[in-house]
Amino acid sequence: MILLETRNLSKTYAGARGARVQAVSEVSLRLDAGEVLGVVGESGCGKSTLGRTILRLTEPTSGQILFKGQDITALSLRAMKPLRRDMQIIFQDPFGALNPRHKVGHILAEPLIVQRVGDAESRRARVLELLDLVGLPPEAAALYPHEFSGGQRQRIAIARALALDPALIVADEAVSALDVSIQSQIINLIAALRRRLGLAILFISHDLSVIRHVSDRIAVMYLGRIVEMGPTEAIMAAPQHPYTRALLSAIPRAGVERGQRIVLQGEVPDPAHPPAGCAFHSRCTQAMDICKLERPPLLRHATAPQEVACHLFP
Ligand code: SF4
Repeated sequence: MILLETRNLSKTYAGARGARVQAVSEVSLRLDAGEVLGVVGESGCGKSTLGRTILRLTEPTSGQILFKGQDITALSLRAMKPLRRDMQIIFQDPFGALNPRHKVGHILAEPLIVQRVGDAESRRARVLELLDLVGLPPEAAALYPHEFSGGQRQRIAIARALALDPALIVADEAVSALDVSIQSQIINLIAALRRRLGLAILFISHDLSVIRHVSDRIAVMYLGRIVEMGPTEAIMAAPQHPYTRALLSAIPRAGVERGQRIVLQGEVPDPAHPPAGCAFHSRCTQAMDICKLERPPLLRHATAPQEVACHLFP
């Protein structure tokens, strides 16, 4: 069942000196119930804006967002409120996301109070259930966020996102602020919860080595657009887009020599002044004349299962 669909979703911001910054451009994707879609790209590629726009935490400029078949693009905030139960977000900074003045028990009960779910007793029971789900002891309910480590705080943030039993979670760089050893614990926790609860997750990260461990499919973003999207195994085994190949070559992998790394030249172009044609042409070692003139559409590859936006694959 398709849980979430975006159709040509775009988000433009007003930049300096009247420039229009195209953060997200014509993104069309779908996410099935219980599926994990990893969204990867360098900092500033628009992936976090995409996640926030999908949740209507920022308003889309154009395009459509469908959730459980309902067009939610233009729903009022009031009409969105009951839907918020089903759509949650986990942020990068667990400390900033948790109110330091409240005990964990209150933090976890708050979404239930806001949505008027249950009474005080059932909410207390739910808090203990949530703590258990994320591997924290019942005593954690009586402590403040600063009494926990970074990894434990992220577990609390995950528990809060689960409080209302959502169908969709947007995990926005959810492990980026954590030590590498803690990262793998949180990734394993997210993977286990996803299996146990049947969650759909839009897992946003700049790190392809993180994305590949949790995602069924991967969408690679560059300058606001998806340039490659498909099953994780297919993309990891045979990336097609030159940008994806460069991202993948940066990950140490068995059987791949260090010298085979593709080093991207130059900087990501200014999104307020995106290049004509393929936005990647200024950094692409395989760029052709047509690449500077025509933007390649995202099309199904002729012989691979993924979709690719590149003139190398007509
Ligand atoms: Fe490179 Fe051209 Fe493909 Fe863009 S369209 S990735 S510039 S080959």
